[in-house]
Amino acid sequence: MQPRLDDYKAIVRADTLKELRLLAKRVEGWKLQNVNSTLKGGGVAEILSRLVPLLKELGVDASWKTIEGDAPFFEVTKAFHNALHGAQVEMTPQMLEIFRSTTRKNLETIDLQDSNTIIHDPQPIGLIELKNKVGGNWVWRCHVDVSTPQKFVWEFLKTYMLRYDAVAFSIPSYARRLPVRQWLLEPSIDPLSEKNMELDESVITSTLERFSIDPEKPVILQVSRFDSLKDPVGVIELYRLVRKKEECQLVLAGGTADDDPEGQKVLGEVKAAAADDPDIHVLLLSPDSHREINALQRAASVVVQKSIREGFGLTVTEAMWKQKPVVASAVGGIRRQIISGVTGFLIESKEGAAHRIRQILNDPDLARGVGRAAKEMVRTRYLITRHVKDYLLIMLALRYPERNVVDI
Ligand code: UDP
Repeated sequence: MQPRLDDYKAIVRADTLKELRLLAKRVEGWKLQNVNSTLKGGGVAEILSRLVPLLKELGVDASWKTIEGDAPFFEVTKAFHNALHGAQVEMTPQMLEIFRSTTRKNLETIDLQDSNTIIHDPQPIGLIELKNKVGGNWVWRCHVDVSTPQKFVWEFLKTYMLRYDAVAFSIPSYARRLPVRQWLLEPSIDPLSEKNMELDESVITSTLERFSIDPEKPVILQVSRFDSLKDPVGVIELYRLVRKKEECQLVLAGGTADDDPEGQKVLGEVKAAAADDPDIHVLLLSPDSHREINALQRAASVVVQKSIREGFGLTVTEAMWKQKPVVASAVGGIRRQIISGVTGFLIESKEGAAHRIRQILNDPDLARGVGRAAKEMVRTRYLITRHVKDYLLIMLALRYPERNVVDI
């Protein structure tokens, strides 16, 4: 059974739910369709899988569709993704043609309605071609860190962006100079989903047993797609630094996403780097291993997110909600979530990270204090109820573009 709005009463302020219902009355029956490129794997799928049902419960005619693409298309869009994150990626005319031709196929096959339409990330950005035919208001929502994009790819995508009614970014510092409306739309987690709900101790114990993880030894954990930008090989090097002085084990848990072609290659590199160390557990999980990830996060002594770039970093939010001390790179959305020393620790180097991890492993009071603050930060800013409210407000803002105040 999926959680219902009333189930959030015990978690959020009482007036939060009242506010949602009040706003929802104003948009009852309105359509809102989301389009991305995968139903499973990665942060966007994670968010939509809960946002859409809750909006429906509130009376919004919400839906979620995905575009179709083959391996060459997703290789091109992964190159876009890396380029937006600032990597110097070579883009050839053939690559742009692959992108355009898959976009054309999707324009013919996707069934969109006259509605509020939110297009997520670069893969489906070209669907904007349908705006005139289908009608409605269109928002491009970018989940990627675009603070220092590669110019060529940014300019290419901008030709599409400019045709939207608004674009939305995940944190304020991603805002760009653009002649369209820009919104801040921060991601969120669902505290009642399988990924984040409270678990019985027995579930945690049996999960550790299943993966042959020693329940007596401190666990350092990183959960992420096997993606070079998540730096899993760097996490192994970091663990080896910690291991020089502390008894501990490392768990790298992750899967691959349908729209990410680099997974297998990176997984191979990780396995090679782990060699035959019995205290490094590399877990390749299926996309619906939510309960396993939940249990691993709860079992961890320290959660690491050593990303090189990070749009937002939902894995950080998930660990913070579980009151875990998180040690994470000072990049992208992680900087917004972690107040270093208060709600977690931001690090700039492997040595700095190793120092923090050792400190946490040796100071349980510090770990508990930071964990408690982390959970409260997530409660006020990053729960799904806030996100639902943002979506309701977006629908109103799209309907009344000329107004700064909308009476409800
Ligand atoms: N995730 C998952 N299985 C995996 C790896 C990640 O379910 O094997 C989830 C993770 O728990 C989080 C999301 O996918 O909810 C990843 O979001 P994040 O913002 O951290 O990174 P992204 O993958 O979107 O770059």
